[in-house]
Formats: sequence, structure tokens, C-alpha cells
Amino acid sequence: MNIGLFGGTFDPIHRGHLALARAARAGCKLSRILFVPANVPPHKQAQPLSAFAHRHAMIALATAQEKDFVPSLLEAPEDLKSGSRGKEKTGIRKPNYTIDTVKRLKQSLKKSDQLFLLIGIDAFAEIAKWHQAEALFRECEFVVASRPGFSLADVANALPASLRPRQEVTRPFHKQAATGDLVLRGVTIHLLDEVYQPVSSTAIRQAVAAGKPLARFVDPAVADYIKKVGLYKGR
Ligand code: ATP
Repeated sequence: MNIGLFGGTFDPIHRGHLALARAARAGCKLSRILFVPANVPPHKQAQPLSAFAHRHAMIALATAQEKDFVPSLLEAPEDLKSGSRGKEKTGIRKPNYTIDTVKRLKQSLKKSDQLFLLIGIDAFAEIAKWHQAEALFRECEFVVASRPGFSLADVANALPASLRPRQEVTRPFHKQAATGDLVLRGVTIHLLDEVYQPVSSTAIRQAVAAGKPLARFVDPAVADYIKKVGLYKGR
């Protein structure tokens, strides 16, 4: 089976995330996609973040009609995972590194299952800085939602140094749009074009703070939840 893992902050989940997941499901014949909100996103520790439970609840609402889209607790705080009522320990909060999540998930998969990591090209551009980035490419194939203006060279040059092809190889890539499959030694990347929607969680948080409607950004159930709980008001 082909399984997708879509990690992110999802504060909140929006139409761009869902468009990426739908295109990945169709393009890579994914039987199931796990939406994995990070409890402690490694790259966003400086900014305020809604509680994990709210972000997870919004994923559940936004994916309720899609039987193959599964809200995941893989990166949940320990007390939520175990169902205990204990408070999360204060102090240093360990970031959720994708490589750890992938390895944990793989323990519950069959050897024949193939894991696909879903990611937008903006996040992929930083992939070389991720914890144990090379190992991630060994463990999974990547599905990258590209955007107009990105070339195949941008994708290849974003790879960790040890996996990056030589310049002679990537030179012709500069003229090629980031689309199709890029298969190099130890790296498989499926590029999805025409997926990217001009929406971000940042724009949604700003729209809430400015009292603007959310209908074009998020599922109606997510918009209702944001209003009911009072998320993003004073940001
Ligand atoms: P923020 O605005 O808070 O930085 P975000 O909208 O980028 O958030 P994240 O939860 O950080 O959302 O993103 C999770 C993943 O979804 C990342 O891989 C990101 O590149 C991708 N992504 C985000 N927005 C879009 C979009 N509009 N289209 C396709 N992919 C997206």
C-alpha cells in the first residue's frame, strides 16, 4: 500500500493543504494520508501556536468527508497519546523531528508498504536543514507541491549536499519547470504542479484578527470552530 504522511503546524488547516493532499492521493495512488500536526514544530518555536488539541480538531473537521484522510496523533503530546489525564511536563519541549515520526510509523507498516512524505515547495526549499535529512530520503519518497516560478534546479539544489547532483547534471534543469518525477540516486521526488493555492495559515490568522470572512480559505466547519473557540483573535 502507498501511505502518505503530511506533517505541518496546521494552525489552522486550510484549502491549500487539502488541495495538496488530494493531488498527492491521485498522483501517487495513496490509499491513506495521515495528517500529522506537530506538537512542537522544529522550525516555528519562536511564534505563538494554538494548542495541539485545537489544531488536531480542525484537521478532523476539515477531513471528515474524506475517508482516506486520517487525523494523526503521531506527534501529539504524551498525555494526549496515552489518554492519561496527567499534565504535560513543563520545561524543555522536544521538537517533533519528522525522521523520528517516520521511523515510529514504519514500525506499524508492512515491509511492502511505501511511505510518501507530502510537502509544499516552500518547506522543501529548507529540507537540507532538517534533522537527519539524508535519512528521510532513504526512508520515503517525497511528494512536493510546486509553484509557478520554481525550476527543477531549485528542487535539486535544495537537496542535502551528499544527495545533490553535480552542477553539470543540474544545468539543464534551470530551464525546466518543477513538474514530473525527479529520480536521482537515493532520491525520488514526485512534483505536483497546479496544486498550489495562494492561501496560508498566516493569512487566515491575520484575517481573523482583522474580522474578515474565512470562507475562501477554510472549510466551513473549520471557520465555525475558529469562531466558537475564539482562536487567533488578538494576534
Ligand atoms: P504558516 O502560514 O503558519 O507558516 P502554512 O500555511 O505554511 O503555515 P503549515 O502547516 O506550516 O501551513 O504547512 C504544512 C505543509 O503544507 C508545508 O509542507 C507547506 O509547504 C504546505 N503548504 C502550506 N500552504 C500551502 C498551500 N497553499 N499549497 C500547498 N502546500 C502548502
